[in-house]
Amino acid sequence: MNICQVAPEMVPFAKTGGLADVVGSITPQLKKRGTSVCAFLPLYKQVKSVLSSSNLISTDLEVTVKMGDDLFLGRIWKTQLPGKINVYFIERNEYYHRDYLYSTPEGDYLDNAQRFIFFCRATLESIKLLGIKCDIIHCHDWQAGLIPVYLKTLYKKDPFYQEVKTVFTVHNLAYQGLFWHWDMKLIGLGWEYFNYKQLEFYGRVNFLKGALVFADKLTTVSPRYAKEIQTPQFGYGLDGVLRERASDLSGIINGVDYSLWNPSSDKLIPANYTREHLSGKLKNKKQLQKRCSLLQSDAPLIGFIGRLTEQKGLDLIAESFDEIMKLGYQFVFLGTGEEKYHRLLSEMGKKYPTSLSVNIAFDNTLAHLITAGSDMLLMPSKYEPCGLNQLYALKYGTLPIVHETGGLADTIIHKTTGFTFKNYTAEEMLHAIRSALTLYLSKRQWRALMKNAMAQDFSWHHSAKEYLSLYSS
Ligand code: ADP
Repeated sequence: MNICQVAPEMVPFAKTGGLADVVGSITPQLKKRGTSVCAFLPLYKQVKSVLSSSNLISTDLEVTVKMGDDLFLGRIWKTQLPGKINVYFIERNEYYHRDYLYSTPEGDYLDNAQRFIFFCRATLESIKLLGIKCDIIHCHDWQAGLIPVYLKTLYKKDPFYQEVKTVFTVHNLAYQGLFWHWDMKLIGLGWEYFNYKQLEFYGRVNFLKGALVFADKLTTVSPRYAKEIQTPQFGYGLDGVLRERASDLSGIINGVDYSLWNPSSDKLIPANYTREHLSGKLKNKKQLQKRCSLLQSDAPLIGFIGRLTEQKGLDLIAESFDEIMKLGYQFVFLGTGEEKYHRLLSEMGKKYPTSLSVNIAFDNTLAHLITAGSDMLLMPSKYEPCGLNQLYALKYGTLPIVHETGGLADTIIHKTTGFTFKNYTAEEMLHAIRSALTLYLSKRQWRALMKNAMAQDFSWHHSAKEYLSLYSS
């Protein structure tokens, strides 16, 4: 089977969240299992900073894409990952050579529609030009969402694409690629596609909806989220579309790349440890306390890593901050996101200088240290398609405290591998945090929970098999 992955981000080239981890690990995992696979990404500024000039190779090929009445040129670059996996990059500096991928702290780039229409068209032209034989194009998130649309419209009669099928994965339904209706001109499709059954969404054009309507198969990143998004509560207005496609929609939990996230071999943490020999974990906790200027004590330490947005449960945390601190916890935050949460956390940091550490940054090394050095990881997300941090935390014996939603509900078992709460309220979250404290104080019970957590296996082994069987179907 030949699979082509098309995504807006991928580890190790460019990352804003879990999507990059997933695309970065599923690609080699498929290759390992005998599938021929390649990937396409935009050539962002970040990619150029990761790849040395000898590793970023020009193919000397150019593609031309018509958007509106004008023609736009793109160049194709490539690199090779171990296992001879080709990763192709679409270069158009005007669009992709920027400090961020999609938005600055002030908001989204205003030309995101152009940037990703171009990416989708240029990718389809590049696949043809390079003569890549693919059975399936697997597209991720709204930025790649027009590819399934184009294959059933503009490229419908193209002999090169006759046999090609598409899989579209929703990593987060809240991000849809919504633009004003005149962008239909740039998309290059007639107004007949601008209707509520296809690309139109309350007067605007919706790239994600296009993918949900036109892709051959749909997936999302956990079985629970696959069900949730078919309800008005989690459907962000697209639950009806998803219910119509229910027979083509499945939920496949993300796998973890344990070559990067494993306490026994992690090179980014000061002390390695295993389920059998846990002593290194305490060294990491001490180091984390030191690094974050917290008191060196045996107080339970909670970590939080993630985007500082409402989705991640920041409003619940804000509401119960003082209560949590009163319980005697130490707390380390790592994240970037909305300005209002930056401000709130910074204020809290001043209030609790020796027990709370706020780190407004994107820092992978600190993320590893928090995962290894904390006793618990708080993830009270309002909704969570899959979530990776709780899976990493399990492997490090750091017990997740999570809201029972999406992938969090699918992966954490209350009082067995972590702590869960059903309803999204500060009260229920605090109850879970108190339960965690009670067990933490009984060292023997806590150790048993840590061992349960560390024995969980969310490797790609299972997930890759599920993707392969979906591709085969
Ligand atoms: P999402 O994709 O919704 O942002 P996930 O839990 O699926 O959330 O994945 C987030 C990924 O991004 C994890 O690998 C996490 O470690 C990483 N991450 C998020 N914020 C930061 C940060 N501030 N610094 C370092 N890594 C981060």
